[in-house]
Amino acid sequence: MNGLMMDWNLTISSILRYAEQVYPRVEVVSVTADLPRHRTSYGEIARRSRKLAKALQKLGVVDNDRVATLAWNDHRHVEAYYAVSGMGAICHTVNPRLFADQLIYIFNHAEDQWVFTDVAFIPLLEQLADKLESVKGYIVMTDQAHMPETSLNTLCYESLLEAEDDDYDWPDLDENRASSLCYTSGTTGNPKGVLYSHRSNVIHTMTAAQPNVFGLGSGDCVLPVVPMFHANAWGVPYSTAMVGAKLVMPGPKLADGEILHELMETEKVTMALGVPTVWLALLQYLRDSNKTLTTLKRTVVGGAACPEAIMREFDEKHGVYVHHAWGMTEMSPLGSYNDEVPADGRSEEERWQLRVKQGRPPYGVEMKIVDDDNQPQPWDGKAFGALKVRGPFITSHYFRYDEDAMDQDGWFDTGDVATLDENAYMTITDRTKDVIKSGGEWISSIDLENVAVAHPDVAEAAAIGIAHPKWTERPLLIVVPNPGAELTRDDVLAFMDGKIAKWWMPEDVVFVDELPHTATGKVQKLALREQFKDYQF
Ligand code: AMP
Repeated sequence: MNGLMMDWNLTISSILRYAEQVYPRVEVVSVTADLPRHRTSYGEIARRSRKLAKALQKLGVVDNDRVATLAWNDHRHVEAYYAVSGMGAICHTVNPRLFADQLIYIFNHAEDQWVFTDVAFIPLLEQLADKLESVKGYIVMTDQAHMPETSLNTLCYESLLEAEDDDYDWPDLDENRASSLCYTSGTTGNPKGVLYSHRSNVIHTMTAAQPNVFGLGSGDCVLPVVPMFHANAWGVPYSTAMVGAKLVMPGPKLADGEILHELMETEKVTMALGVPTVWLALLQYLRDSNKTLTTLKRTVVGGAACPEAIMREFDEKHGVYVHHAWGMTEMSPLGSYNDEVPADGRSEEERWQLRVKQGRPPYGVEMKIVDDDNQPQPWDGKAFGALKVRGPFITSHYFRYDEDAMDQDGWFDTGDVATLDENAYMTITDRTKDVIKSGGEWISSIDLENVAVAHPDVAEAAAIGIAHPKWTERPLLIVVPNPGAELTRDDVLAFMDGKIAKWWMPEDVVFVDELPHTATGKVQKLALREQFKDYQF
């Protein structure tokens, strides 16, 4: 027997309709290239999104068409999110930091019909345009006065809106329809498209806003420093609208400590989210200028492991609680969240041991860790395993890709290696491809790197497995020393001694001037393995 409840589709437009009705005057503040400080509200964003949907209809955009965005975080990008998904088309956010070949591949694979772009990306698009097979034109997110000179077929965003009224009803879409598309840039092969649905995004939004996760409410003022082309800015443009929190959008200067500080103080930001690099820039600025943060209460740090030093400096110098989070594009992206760790009789040091972990899965994310034979490993905080997940906002298939993204039991392999403890706190110890397999056991390359970079003369370090006749693999540590430092192999190994298990000690240390990085700033272990493939201990 089925329940007798209404079939009410969980759609992206339902979030905007709600915000317009309940929080029409709550502010959305943006920095953009043409408007240094722009102020609007959810009510105005809702009206302009309807105008934009009408304009897109006139341009011939129909159901399921892909419409791309190449843009920083601001109110116009928020409007594009809601208008494109809301009208039944698919909002494809593109990362402008990718290499030209990857961008061409992504636009063509997605078959984007139109591209919303910031003025700043026009030169980039001019270089690519000849190779973009499906794109009909470019909607430049600015007003007539700031339209660039270009050979591209461009339309002006503000002029499109001026030509429309807001008399438009959002269609009642089936919640399982696709709403948005985001490609992941792995370190190997072509990028793969993650195709979110209205339903997955709405459930993710409700999960993210929960008290034990982002804990958002109408008293909050939220600054997503994470870009809107990276997994929907962790869903923030949806979750702030759903709870009526003020939204502050930083525009293009995502890693400028001074601008972030100024925005936080003048807009009274209470909560900010970003990757570790942006927080390093902010903390550096605060140190140099001797300033502090008077309104910020908490930050969420994810995308890469958050160094403990960042957490402590925020906490001890500025009274800001850092929440460590883990996720991935395929998970919408939230996978785990480290909520405020209660004292519960724990010493301060014990609390810190928990705080640095990547956190616990929220409702909607099931986890397990498995060994090479897919056998579940115990949740004892010690056993490592490949981390697998399942849930309603996790990818089942990549866009236009033959193979399932799930294994035969319906679990998604995250490609991360983790431990889980008895209280469900998860710690990422490695990527599956990077873990060093020595004598049937696993050595965490990340742990080796973390210990090595704590040496004052080490700027960066990477550990890789080198084939070994007896142990299968043994670790090689590759170190970039600080400029001018005179560092030897023995210095590094003596520093690491006692901080890791004896059998984890790198077999050797080599020094290089720099490490190869991907477009998103991750160390390219594959390139390093290739570079050192003939290395012998
Ligand atoms: P992306 O899909 O580009 O967001 O990349 C997802 C990957 O980033 C994950 O599979 C992890 O390897 C890594 N990652 C994200 N958050 C964290 C974190 N807090 N600690 C360690 N690795 C992380």
